[in-house]
Amino acid sequence: MEQKINPFDEVIKQIEIVAEKLKLDPSVVEQLKHPRKVMTVAVPIKMDNGQVKVFTGYRVQYNMWRGPYKGGIRYHPTVELDEVKALAAWMTFKTALMDLPYGGAKGGVVCDAKKLSKGELERITRRYTTMIIDDIGPYRDIPAPDVNTDAQTMAWIMDTYSSIKGYSIPEVVTGKPLILGGSPGRESATGRGVSICAREAAKKLGTSIKNSRVAVQGYGNVGYWSAKILNEMGAEIVGVSDSKGGCIAGNIDPSKVLEHKRKTGSVIGYPGSKTIPGDQILESECDILVPAALENAITRRNASNVKAKIVSEGANGPTTTDADKILYDRRVFVVPDILANAGGVTVSYFEWVQNLSREEWTEEIVNQKLEEKMVRAFNDVAEMAEKHKVNMRTAAYMLAVARVADAHLRMGLFP
Ligand code: NAD
Repeated sequence: MEQKINPFDEVIKQIEIVAEKLKLDPSVVEQLKHPRKVMTVAVPIKMDNGQVKVFTGYRVQYNMWRGPYKGGIRYHPTVELDEVKALAAWMTFKTALMDLPYGGAKGGVVCDAKKLSKGELERITRRYTTMIIDDIGPYRDIPAPDVNTDAQTMAWIMDTYSSIKGYSIPEVVTGKPLILGGSPGRESATGRGVSICAREAAKKLGTSIKNSRVAVQGYGNVGYWSAKILNEMGAEIVGVSDSKGGCIAGNIDPSKVLEHKRKTGSVIGYPGSKTIPGDQILESECDILVPAALENAITRRNASNVKAKIVSEGANGPTTTDADKILYDRRVFVVPDILANAGGVTVSYFEWVQNLSREEWTEEIVNQKLEEKMVRAFNDVAEMAEKHKVNMRTAAYMLAVARVADAHLRMGLFP
């Protein structure tokens, strides 16, 4: 059996690869390998049956050399501290790559969100917020949604934070409902970024997104919006999956399959499709693969069987370092997570700017600004990859880590 992959070990490997290429100052490398602050909290709540249950929560603040900490909060039974550390490090590099004035953070609560009632989720969210309240804030650390958290979760955090501070502070979180200061275009932003990257990658390979066949692993926020926007760009969706399994068909309608999932709890059984085991979606016949579930989906076990020519990483950390090498040798064009899924944090930044200035932008403006930022970042990374003859992931890390390191070298070490 393959050994369990620790995502934080993957981060350290990525930092080391890039440090060597950039000939980085060892004192910077040493600091980049350690999160600034790691919080573990006990979150006691009263369950609907009257019993008290204690959940474990984390918030990791990785680096703030380029600005306030920024990163999502995940609710999942497999959340572990090393996973949250890895996700916080990736946020640091993602915000740097997109040239957003932020550092990186991430949070999580170990819980099976799907088995909890709305009331229980609200109590977990509010109590977790109070446990980390002195460490978050609009200029300190700004949470956002991630797996199994959404605009509603952000509304509860905003309300808890504002209630305790005594006035309304919408800018403490992003990914809020529109009525509470959320940004138009935030919900679809990550999927839009994934789609723009896939489209640009197709151009690089001299093909077109039109009529390309797309398979999507994970049909939540990122998976659905990627499928929908790629479909609008002219691609054909030929397979989708979720935690229960997958389905393949000639031309899947992204909205209809979402409706089916809402009704039945899964994409499985979508009319006219063939059911497949979930993992098989990664090896299905397609031109573009969007892994949009969790970490370590493409490993050395299945990387050789990936049929796609383009992988646009919607999830964080879906490809292990070993698998990355295999895909590169097989000339699969991989758009790395810190670039491909950076649309979410980019529009989160737009939301924060709108909140701080009490302005409201239209969806057209948001999408236009996102398009510009994504295409510029994609081209910067592609240019770096060509110049240094490295893959897109190493190139993205080279750009990002160099920016984080430069900020530190300018400030120097306190005291
Ligand atoms: P989500 O909770 O909305 O959806 C996750 C989906 O993945 C669900 O459909 C679930 O059934 C599915 N899934 C879980 N395990 C699976 C498996 N083994 N095989 C197939 N499907 C599986 O979460 P999301 O917000 O869409 O996040 C998905 C990924 O994208 C995560 O890695 C997250 O960190 C990353 N991400 C999200 C955002 C964002 O804005 N939401 C931004 C950047 C990155």
